[in-house]
Amino acid sequence: MKTILVTGGAGFIGSAVVRYLVGKGVRVVNLDKLTYAGNLASLASIKDMPNHRFVRGDIADVPMILANLREENVEGIMHLAAESHVDRSIDGPGEFIETNVVGTFRLLSAALEYWRGLEGEARSCFRFHHISTDEVFGDLPFDSGIFTEDTPYAPSSPYSASKAASDHFVRAWHETYGLPVVLSNCSNNYGPYHFPEKLIPLTILNALEGKTLPVYGKGENVRDWLYVDDHAKALHLVLTTGKVGESYNVGGRNERTNLAVVETICDILDARVPLPDGKSRRELIDFVTDRPGHDRRYAIDATKLENELGWQAEENFETGLAKTVGWYLENEWWWEPIRSGSYSGERLGTKA
Ligand code: NAD
Repeated sequence: MKTILVTGGAGFIGSAVVRYLVGKGVRVVNLDKLTYAGNLASLASIKDMPNHRFVRGDIADVPMILANLREENVEGIMHLAAESHVDRSIDGPGEFIETNVVGTFRLLSAALEYWRGLEGEARSCFRFHHISTDEVFGDLPFDSGIFTEDTPYAPSSPYSASKAASDHFVRAWHETYGLPVVLSNCSNNYGPYHFPEKLIPLTILNALEGKTLPVYGKGENVRDWLYVDDHAKALHLVLTTGKVGESYNVGGRNERTNLAVVETICDILDARVPLPDGKSRRELIDFVTDRPGHDRRYAIDATKLENELGWQAEENFETGLAKTVGWYLENEWWWEPIRSGSYSGERLGTKA
């Protein structure tokens, strides 16, 4: 595929996808509304590349999307734009329904109208790739079970319910209208350019500054972690070689309790940047009241993606986490404005 429209390409995973595609020589039309989670600074390394065009806009704006699809002769859409933070979905679910459900419906409407107007090879090769999460499958017991593509949906949070709804709409647009779709459901991502409200970047930066490290409950919840660049590669593979109408689970088989994640970050930082008093950063851990509806465990079986499409994660949790901590140590220019509250895409001079 020569030209791909990526939605949410100024976010954490979207910007990794855009950097990866642009580096491969693909033309990327990067559509992002620049909510609090969108940051053009994450695209600084590719901003002058001729095969990257940033469009500030909303996935719900059907005429604008149609105009861009037609003008650029887009061959595939990778849909990552979403509200993505579970805690925010508990405080304000409306925005999640608006963006993740209604926004996806509007994007599907634009994609369908565009696809219906294509002919020949352009029509048969077009794909709509919906990027989703393992959280749609709900909760696993601590000691057994793994999510496959056939696991029934059982979302627990407003976030995961909104993503589950959008997955269903995407499948319905395939079954009802024939839109050529592929879907993928991925486990928790981590890596560079991750907004510091999420567990790993928040812990790295708090630990670096000697601040307390909040951990929900007893830190026993288990997540299956994947380095973001491995996800970006998987997504490109699913878009270009996945079977129409199918979904693929993406995960690195790196299950860790939240407490183990936080402790590992403390140990990496203690070795690289010891605290002035020589104390272990593990002493900064603060167990806080658990999140309501907090799923115990997620675990992804990525066998289908590995066997059918030949994907393999390149990083394991130890190598990926060491890289991630190193990146935050070296890229204060990116996270300092967010941490200090002076951050806004516009004030940083990154306005589209
Ligand atoms: P993110 O919150 O970092 O980025 C979301 C991006 O979408 C932001 O740049 C934001 O400005 C943009 N956006 C929001 N509403 C928009 C709208 N109406 N129109 C256009 N752009 C809009 O999210 P992320 O962590 O990069 O996740 C990307 C996708 O991957 C999401 O769909 C998420 O559900 C899915 N996912 C995330 C993870 C994870 O661990 N982060 C794991 C699996 C799946």
